Amino acid sequence: MNISKSKELYEKAVELIPEGVSSNLRGYPAYSPHPIFIDRGEGSKVYDVDGNEYIDYLCAFGAVILGHCHPKVTEAVKQQLEKGTMFGTAHELEIKVAEKIKKMVPSVEMVRFACSGTEATMTALRIARGYTGKDKIIKFEGHYHGHHDYVLISYQPVASDCGSRISPNKIPMSPGIPEAILQTMIVLPWNDLEVVEKVVKRKGDEIAGIITEPIMGNGGMIFPEEGYLKGLREICDENDIVLIFDEVWSGFRIARGGAAEYFGVEPDLHTFAKAMANGYPIAAVGGKREIMESVGLGKIFHGGTYTANPLCLAAAYATLNELDRDGVYEEFYRLGNKLIEGLREAAERTGHNVYIPGFAGFYNLFFTDKKEFKDWRDIEGSVDRAKYEKWVWEMYKRGIYHSTPDTFERVNLTMAHTEEDIEKTIQAAEEAFKAIK
Ligand code: PLP
Repeated sequence: MNISKSKELYEKAVELIPEGVSSNLRGYPAYSPHPIFIDRGEGSKVYDVDGNEYIDYLCAFGAVILGHCHPKVTEAVKQQLEKGTMFGTAHELEIKVAEKIKKMVPSVEMVRFACSGTEATMTALRIARGYTGKDKIIKFEGHYHGHHDYVLISYQPVASDCGSRISPNKIPMSPGIPEAILQTMIVLPWNDLEVVEKVVKRKGDEIAGIITEPIMGNGGMIFPEEGYLKGLREICDENDIVLIFDEVWSGFRIARGGAAEYFGVEPDLHTFAKAMANGYPIAAVGGKREIMESVGLGKIFHGGTYTANPLCLAAAYATLNELDRDGVYEEFYRLGNKLIEGLREAAERTGHNVYIPGFAGFYNLFFTDKKEFKDWRDIEGSVDRAKYEKWVWEMYKRGIYHSTPDTFERVNLTMAHTEEDIEKTIQAAEEAFKAIK
């Protein structure tokens, strides 16, 4: 595999940018010996600066759902580009995208736009606090909600550091998070209704919100146990707590109507980003009218120079229109499930114990003897991270960009992936499994 030009660029980049990249998940040591610099993408493929072609399964951490450079999205953005990039005032596309989201996710009665998932969850927590007049928020171990101070806690802690289940240690995942912030957060293990019930019984009058990924998609693709989300819904209803589904990656991906449709449980607030605009930087926080109407001048503050950027709104409108067509998710699920099944069989044929939680267009691949995980504590020490890293580089060598070398990083399919892509991937996977034997 010739990635010499990537190496050259990386050597320049590290002189100018910490770790040579603009996110900790993209540089060395995440990619050892160095990241692969991508030059362009088209459909299901990306091409690096050395001219190597890859079938892409990183897909911008799930943001690209229709495929790279989808013609309708590109055309919509081009048209808006001719008219102007940013005005900083009201724009008709805001209404069109808001209407579209409301149609696809009926529990979203009103919506405000933001620029990233991090901004959306930050805003959701502010709204929950401002609306209820309470300070504390429950978040769960293994859940990622972006990199602001309130949520970068116990995201991927070492399980043995977590402490008791009823009163876990709050582990900041970065220096620079003030102790005072930690005091406003309650961290709990996920998928355990009993601990939530006990904690809410003791501290319900201090708790403004519960934020959860509906599927634990940043910590092993663990699904909620039967009744868990419904149980959270009931606890929130009984205790004046705002339930927030962080659907930054699951929104418009696991179903047209996201988790509310898939699990049949409606939160008070949703956060969306990634798939809503096929990779353009826009996000949204939305939900019940009564709660959302507490945002405004003299009320709960929300703003931002770049919010509701017309280029991104144009991309979002074109993307959501594509996702709102009949039959698109069925084909997406079919291909995704074929890939997962093919990988399972390839691992079995080559004598590897793997577990692939997920379905359709999103999953993780773990080298492990276990067949089920309930929460982050369960999974953290049970999977072979080094083996996965080796396997992924073997996949890169074979033209398959199977997400990042971190086994906890999700794989994401696009609707541009073809039957042929899936077959090539399964074949490459089998060779890669053999190569690391
Ligand atoms: N919430 C979830 C569930 C996410 O998966 C992510 C990103 O992966 C975020 C929030 C943060 O979004 P962003 O990277 O756009 O800030």
